[in-house]
Amino acid sequence: MESLKQKILTEGKVLSDSVVKVDSFLNHQVDPAFMQSIGEAFALRFAGSNITKILTLESSGIAPAVMTGLSLGVPVIFARKRKSLTLNEGLYSADVYSYTKEKTNKISISQDYINSDDTVLIIDDILANGQAALGLADLVEQTGAALEGIGIVVEKGFQEGVAMLEKRGIRVESLATIASLDNGRITFQDEEAI
Ligand code: 5GP
Repeated sequence: MESLKQKILTEGKVLSDSVVKVDSFLNHQVDPAFMQSIGEAFALRFAGSNITKILTLESSGIAPAVMTGLSLGVPVIFARKRKSLTLNEGLYSADVYSYTKEKTNKISISQDYINSDDTVLIIDDILANGQAALGLADLVEQTGAALEGIGIVVEKGFQEGVAMLEKRGIRVESLATIASLDNGRITFQDEEAI
């Protein structure tokens, strides 16, 4: 997605050879019109898949997931990272290790919103080592629903997540794939079709 690549190039800040900061449009501030175009791009890629629910992880997955849900006309469920007073029983849970935060989070969804009749699309902001995506896929498996695939806004193709997910037979669609962040420079893989 060309406009996304331009946004990453002009607004992204390379923090190290493996971490890019994209707070201005993805992880802190959200540009609603731009996010809507991201939702439309995911909807195009998964058109004809009969998706009935979208699953994401709080908090940065919510904006692209909601815009995709708007385009596809389906509800969006976001997994929570901590228990709340109102979400503490009847849960599906999975453990997700975060390399950036060096800790394991338990992520959970209520058993009320996804069931074995559903076909689920997972949406997330950034794919690195794939632990968040794998935790979400684990939740989908617990519900008995079919997993159609995973839509990622920014994939870091030089980390192991995408290969690990595809080895498990999971379809991964990324709107922008970063090939390298070496020497403070962002370079993309050039396979994007949309
Ligand atoms: P994974 O589980 O794939 O290793 O990491 C996924 C999560 O870690 C993303 O949802 C994102 O919140 C965070 N993350 C991983 N790498 C980066 C990065 O380079 N930049 C930012 N901003 N977040 C990242």
